[in-house]
Amino acid sequence: MTGERASSGIRRRGLMLVLSSPSGAGKSTIARNLLENDPGLELSVSVTTRPRRPSEIDGVHYHFISQREFDRLRDTDALLEWAEVHGNCYGTPREPAEAAMADGRDMLFDIDWQGAEQLDEKMRADIVSIFILPPSMGELKTRLRRRAEDTDAVIEKRLANARVEIEHWRAYDYVVVNDDLNRAYSEVRSIVTAERLRRDRRPGLFDFVTKLLDEKLG
Ligand code: 5GP
Repeated sequence: MTGERASSGIRRRGLMLVLSSPSGAGKSTIARNLLENDPGLELSVSVTTRPRRPSEIDGVHYHFISQREFDRLRDTDALLEWAEVHGNCYGTPREPAEAAMADGRDMLFDIDWQGAEQLDEKMRADIVSIFILPPSMGELKTRLRRRAEDTDAVIEKRLANARVEIEHWRAYDYVVVNDDLNRAYSEVRSIVTAERLRRDRRPGLFDFVTKLLDEKLG
């Protein structure tokens, strides 16, 4: 069987944690905290044609590639999903994600609603999707400005796109409002913990319970 791993001695399938939100809602910070504090979770590093921001590292945050290379990957089916977001192309490399699933490792996908929809169609059973909402549109604007890594034109474009992104909230399994980062983070952690414990993700439970019931008491 694919997609299993030992956890508390009980084998279970890996999960694909999809996090989406409009830019500036705090998704990246929540994702970073999750990855730093949960060694069992790894990031799916996307490819993108967007220019690198000063704080970003090629191969860590994204693989920054040309449009030509992106088209080649897309056309050779090397991407599990892809989408155009804010005028740039983004995609999830197929191979690392499939390898993680086959090994039962949990993977985090920081992707937009179009990508979430495509993964959901292909791998529903393994997906846990969470949508992060900002507390208000005003706060979203402030956060985008504060980031100060994008030009005004880019910020305006992202704000306009935020509405479109938010309209897809219903397609997600969970919705978290990020009005307080610590609380939002702890809510996301709770979701991951609960989803890892789901009976249908733990094929090893059968053996565990069989052994439990066979146990001879002194
Ligand atoms: P940013 O340019 O701010 O890093 O990302 C813009 C948007 O693209 C974010 O909503 C992010 O989640 C999304 N995104 C990043 N990588 C991918 C990907 O591989 N596929 C899809 N569909 N969206 C992505």
